[in-house]
Formats: sequence, structure tokens, C-alpha cells
Amino acid sequence: PPLTENRHEDGAAAQKPERVSVLFPMPLPKAYDYACDGDVPPLGSFVTAPFGPREVAGVVWPSKGEAPPLEKLKTLAGVFDAPPLSPDLIAFIDWAAAYTMFPKGALLRMVMRVSDALEGPRMQTAFIRTDASEGLRMTAQRKAVLAAAGASPRSASDLAAQVNVSEAVVRGLADAGALARVDIDPDPPFAQPDLDRQGPELSDDQQFAAETLAAIVEEGGHKAVLIDGVTGSGKTEVYFEAVAAALKKDPEAQALILLPEIALTLPFLTRVEERFGAAPAPWHSDLTGAQRRRSWRRVADGSARLVVGARSALFLPFQKLRLIVVDEEHDNAYKQEEGVIYHARDMAVARGSLGGFPVALASATPSLETVVNVDEGRYEAVGLSSRFADAAMPDIHLIDMREDAPEAGRWLSPGLVREIDKNLSAHEQSLLFLNRRGYAPLTLCRRCGHKMTAPGSDSMLVEHRFENRLICHHTGFSMPKPTACPACNAVDALTPCGPGIERVAEEAKERWPQARISVLSSDTAPGPRSMRDVLDAMKAGEIDILIATQVAAKGHHFPNLTLVGVVDADLGLAGGDLRAAERTYQLLSQVTGRAGRAEKPGRAFLQTYQPEAPVLAALASGDRDAFLAAEAIGRRDLGFPPYGRLAAVTLRSLDEQALDRTANALKVAAPYADGVEVLGPARAPIYRLRGVARMRLLVKARRNVSLQAYLADWLAAVKVPGPVRVTVDINPYSF
Ligand code: ADP
Repeated sequence: PPLTENRHEDGAAAQKPERVSVLFPMPLPKAYDYACDGDVPPLGSFVTAPFGPREVAGVVWPSKGEAPPLEKLKTLAGVFDAPPLSPDLIAFIDWAAAYTMFPKGALLRMVMRVSDALEGPRMQTAFIRTDASEGLRMTAQRKAVLAAAGASPRSASDLAAQVNVSEAVVRGLADAGALARVDIDPDPPFAQPDLDRQGPELSDDQQFAAETLAAIVEEGGHKAVLIDGVTGSGKTEVYFEAVAAALKKDPEAQALILLPEIALTLPFLTRVEERFGAAPAPWHSDLTGAQRRRSWRRVADGSARLVVGARSALFLPFQKLRLIVVDEEHDNAYKQEEGVIYHARDMAVARGSLGGFPVALASATPSLETVVNVDEGRYEAVGLSSRFADAAMPDIHLIDMREDAPEAGRWLSPGLVREIDKNLSAHEQSLLFLNRRGYAPLTLCRRCGHKMTAPGSDSMLVEHRFENRLICHHTGFSMPKPTACPACNAVDALTPCGPGIERVAEEAKERWPQARISVLSSDTAPGPRSMRDVLDAMKAGEIDILIATQVAAKGHHFPNLTLVGVVDADLGLAGGDLRAAERTYQLLSQVTGRAGRAEKPGRAFLQTYQPEAPVLAALASGDRDAFLAAEAIGRRDLGFPPYGRLAAVTLRSLDEQALDRTANALKVAAPYADGVEVLGPARAPIYRLRGVARMRLLVKARRNVSLQAYLADWLAAVKVPGPVRVTVDINPYSF
């Protein structure tokens, strides 16, 4: 049994009980004290202790504050046979809780997300072949199983599934002696990376960058380093060298590569395997329960040395994490906005700082935050100046839609259509980019002007024509597209307004009936695998025109793709949150960077109604530094991050009156502090979702102010009524 009782073995004289603090994976701000009358488990140990009516698993945490008298304490119930959390992870959780203002236990819950990982190595029965099949009554099914079985152990379900028989056939063969039963660990260790394996020969730029990183790894200690280079400049190969250096330096060291999107992890695992001869341990939300448990346990016992994962991999129980790489560090997907709100890039740097190891950030379009950190000397930077093997950057052109307008009800301008014509004749591939899923973002009644929204929500329903449904992208609500307007009952008056990728695909299919056209978004490709099928078809040249949302924008190499058309370059600029221009710049330079990756030069066309907007002008001229400089001035003038601090306090309630009252009471209670400004309350851009209304206060502070201390004082001063929920978002990304 994995759990040992926390009592002495042999009834010898009782040791004096001692105090042990335990943090539970629940939204609780502090650890609870217990008496321990056996051997005191070391810090970080997984234990169980009575909590309320149950025994609950938790972790031994550093004791703080006054010790209550021991005789008042309940007794620790047991200790799991699992490696304790490392001290730097404990320090990280304490720090992250203080920074994000979420309770410590909520952060610990992210570490303990794998509920069955503590149950220990339950063995699984597997089967291998023996020589003892003589005299055995043979059937076709038995023959098939014996042919499939071999010297390496396989489970009954695995064998049975392969030859399509019931598991009873397998067990029957084992009972008859023709198969032997062996115990195997259901969570086999991961193959070890081969650190002496040679990567590709590096260019001079790459070599220099790789040596700089390796020197930082060798030196030890914390440093954050930006690997700055255009898409395709070979940043990945460079940080692979840093990973090799870190793992070589210490035979117990572990390294983590963070990627912003699950869709990127599958092809990336293959790439790591090609480089190191072994696939890394994966971590993301699409893993099965068994895969999750395997990765978690093997990270916890230190045997998984290289992990590739999404942001939540930061909370895996690494024993000896010595390097983190954050690829596409600028990507907004690193900002987690549900549950504990955090930014994985910032957390990675903090984790490295607390653990005393380097963190590498890679990007072609680094965030303003990171650029300022480099400029002010807090981060180092290594640059890769050109694309690998001198593939040229695409030529970027703006199409002024006021002058080169599409016909009514069409979305592609004559100029862009001509370019696609040319590409089709040249048998080269085109990508049409529009960051909007579905057919039309808005459905409007031509009679009464009613806009279709989800029940209890202010968000527009998006028509998805393949499924013939209206779907809310915020709540997941969906309904068949009605034939009559629900407000005025007019029949056939509901009209789709504006384009989504399905509508652009419809236009493309009409214009180029002979072309092979595919659509790619998170809808058409549920899960990374089928997305991979489309991406593979694109790579193999089996698609002429790919019409895609941002899922196609990142990290893919399409050697025959030479034209990128951005259907609506203005899309991200609306809404006006503080990072709108930056995000648009990053996304569009990433998308246009898909064109012309191999020998063929690429070109990109951006359809816009505001070609004079600075972000579009900067894209067209390829002047990233000018763009960043202009952004920096704008943010500095307003005192926004990274030049000042910002927090959002969001209030949610089903009860709008309570919400209003609480929001106003909070505003009134905001203490005066030098350098702090409280803005709002204002309604959230989508005010109601599923009946829950949301209001927001923004706190803006000078950089030398402790925002967390201010917020703690403030929020403690106001009694929030039951039906209102308050959450804090430090450095918010969406407004
Ligand atoms: P980035 O991460 O900067 O976008 P990658 O590291 O993915 O760039 O490199 C782009 C492409 O060039 C990849 O296909 C990669 O395999 C290839 N590549 C990069 N560096 C080298 C090298 N030194 N030798 C051979 N191929 C390379």
C-alpha cells in the first residue's frame, strides 16, 4: 500500500509528538497544523490528515505563526510513498500565491491535479509468449493472439484489440501456459534523451547564440535571456543546445520547454525526438488520464528529464528543474484567465529566479514587457538576424479596401484575387487568414433589427454553417439556426452579417472551383490530431488554398506556401485594450511569416480600411523597432505596463443590483495612496454571460507601488455580499 500509517513501528516508547503544517489543494490561504507522533515527514511530503469530516491529501508545508498547543491538534493520518515536492517548488507556490493574490491551496491544487498519481505504482498484468504451446487445443483466435504476442509484455486489452478477439482468449492462453503473466508498471519511464547526439550544423549566428546560452547554463544561477530572431531563423535549434547543455551539466537536471498551444505540441514532440532520439514527457490538457499520470509520476521521480508542455506544466512536481524555455514568449495564450489567473511567461521567470536557474524566452516578435526588460538590463538578449539558409522575408503590401473594394457580399478585393490567380497558375500554395471561426459573426433580423444572442448573455451568436447552428463562442451555448426571427416572427429575415472563415471559403470555392480548398480552425479540426491531418496535407502540397484562423499562424513550415492574404487586418485593432496594436503586430507578422520559407520568396497582402494606422505601416515596412518604440511611448505616457502597474478587480453576480452596489461601495472605499489611481467601475465589454453580470474596476499604480499590498488593504475593508464574487487579475490582458 502506498500509504503508511504515521505511527511507530514497534510500540517502543512514544516519541514526543511534533507540529506539522499541511497545505491542502483547496482554495484556502494557509496551511493547517497537526500533531505528528511518528517520524516527522520532510517538507514537501504528501500526507493525509483529517480535515472536516474527511481525511484529505495535502503537502507538508513550512510552519508559520504561533504554534497552537499540541494537545489541541488533530493527528496526521498517513504519509504517501511519493517523492516530496522540491523546496524551490514550495517557494514558488508561496510566491505565486502572494503575487496573483489567489490562495496558496489553489496553487497547490494545480500541482496535484493528477488525482490518482499518489496511489503509487499499481502493477498491471501483462503477457509474454512462452514456448509451451505444444499439445494446446488451437483455434484461429488463439493462433492470432500467439502470433501477436512476443517477448515484450503487452496487456490483455492491447493484444485482444490488435487481433480483434475478446480478452478471455488471451487469459485462456495464459491459463494453458502458452502465455506467461508478468507484472509491469503502467507508467513506464520515458526514454532518456541522447545528449551527445549531434544537432544540425549551426550557422554562425546560431552558433554564437547557442554558445552564449550554454555559457549562461554552465555558469549556473538565474538569468532571463531573450532569443530574438525572425520566424525561421533557427531559434528552436539554438535552445535545443541550451537544453542539452543543462541536462549534461547535471545528470539529475530536468528541463521544461513551454509552448503556447496544444496544437503545436504534437509536431514538436516529433521534432524533439528527432533531435534527442527520445520523445519528451508531454503535458497538456488533451492527454488521457493515463498519459497524465505517467508524465506526472515520472517528472516527480526525476526520471523524465525533458518535458514539453502547455503553461500548466510550470506546476509539475519537478525534482530538479534547471532550465525553462518559453517559446513564442509574446503569445497571449500564456495568460491563463480561468481559475488562478497568471501569465506563464512571467511565472516561468519567477520560477527560475527562485530556483536559481536560467530561463530562455524565444520570439520573433517579443512582447514590449520583455523588450523593456532587455533595454533596462534585467534580461539578456541574443539575436538571430536572418532566416536560416537565407530564405527571404516576405514582401508585405497593404490593400486599401476603400479603393480596391470587393463586390457587395464578397470579402476578397480584386487585388488579392489577382494574386491568388497568379499563385494557382504557378502551382504554389496560398493561405487566407481570418481570425474568425464560423460563417458569420452576427445574425441580424432584417425586419426588426433583432440581434441573435445567447440566453442571458450579451454575446453574439456565431453562425456555423457546416453544422447549421448558432454558437456562442464565450459560453459554448448552441442552437439550430431558427427559420423565423424570435423577436418579430418574420420568416427568412435572419441575415448573416460579416465574414467568418466558412464564408470566405464559400467565396473562394465559387471563384476557384478547380482549386483544392480547405478550412482550418479549432471547429473544423477538433483536437490536435485532425488539425494535424490538415496541416500535413498542406505540407504535402495537397491543398491549394488554406483558409484558416490563428491555429495555422504559429510554428508551421509550409515549403510551397508563397502567398498570405489577410482578409481583415483591422480585426484585432477594434476594442482598444492596451495591447491591441501589439497583438495585431505579433499575429500578423507571424501569419505573414508563413510565406516563403524555403527557396521560394513569399509575399503577403493585408486588406485594411486604415492603411495609415501605425501598426499596419510598421508591418508593411518591416520596422519592428519603430513599432515598439511608438508603443513604448504610448504606454509610458499613460503609465501603463510595463511602465506602471495595473490590476483588474472583477465583480460577478446574477444579482445586478447587488453587483452595482458592491462595485460602487468598493470604489468609495478605495484608500488614497500616492501614485495609485482607481478607475471605474465600468461594465465588462460583454456585460452578461449566462445571466452573470460583470463589472470591472481598474487599479493603476506607479511601478514603485506594491499593488498587492494596496489591493489587500482595500479588499479587506469592504464586506462583499454573498451573491457577488470578486477576483483580482494582476496585469490583465483582456479588458
Ligand atoms: P524558429 O524557431 O526561429 O522559427 P527553427 O529552429 O524552427 O526556427 O528553424 C527553421 C527551419 O530551419 C526548421 O525547419 C529547422 O529544422 C531548420 N534549421 C534551423 N537551423 C538549422 C541548421 N543549423 N541546419 C539545418 N536546418 C536548420
